[in-house]
Amino acid sequence: MTQARFEIALSFRQVACRCGGARICGQPCPDCGQKALPTEVDPAKQRRQRLARICRAVTTDAPPVAPIPDSVGVAMIRLLQEILGGAKDLVSKADEGDRLAAAVRQTVSLEATLRQCARFRPRIAVFGDLADSARGLIGTAGAILDALEANNPIDATRAERRMQAAIDAAGHRAARAGEVEELWARLEESDEPLFV
Ligand SMILES: [Zn+2]
Repeated sequence: MTQARFEIALSFRQVACRCGGARICGQPCPDCGQKALPTEVDPAKQRRQRLARICRAVTTDAPPVAPIPDSVGVAMIRLLQEILGGAKDLVSKADEGDRLAAAVRQTVSLEATLRQCARFRPRIAVFGDLADSARGLIGTAGAILDALEANNPIDATRAERRMQAAIDAAGHRAARAGEVEELWARLEESDEPLFV
């Protein structure tokens, strides 16, 4: 499943340069090489970077273990949507990164839950696979945070390209997780002995 193109408008403040051109606040001038002044600030960028760092810190918190969702595939798609919506809310200042942080926390929790289930037979392989998918979704959130933390438009464009690829990969992983669950459910319903 390929996600629709995800756009977040990352703005960068420009300042007038001594050469008559404009340069990105905090960055050297590409035309004349003028260095940024230590007093220059880009409040919107600094805010994005600060909030992205807070959201990133959530990925290393001790994860709470939650009940296993009825469908991990559906849960992953919901979490992906929350991560994307949360990134938009952060950039548009609809919130202070709360929605994104909550979605990242839930994704970390989902991975921890699945990883714990993967320690027990007979579902080691299936839960290991699902936990890997959830880990991939955490990676997607990381790619989005990289874009939010970009220092200049060139870095932002590069990060946005990686972010789009990561979002598409997350969609594929969610679909694959759904297939794995479906297969497992069918096996459980069958009368054939599964593990002999
Ligand atoms: Zn210049």
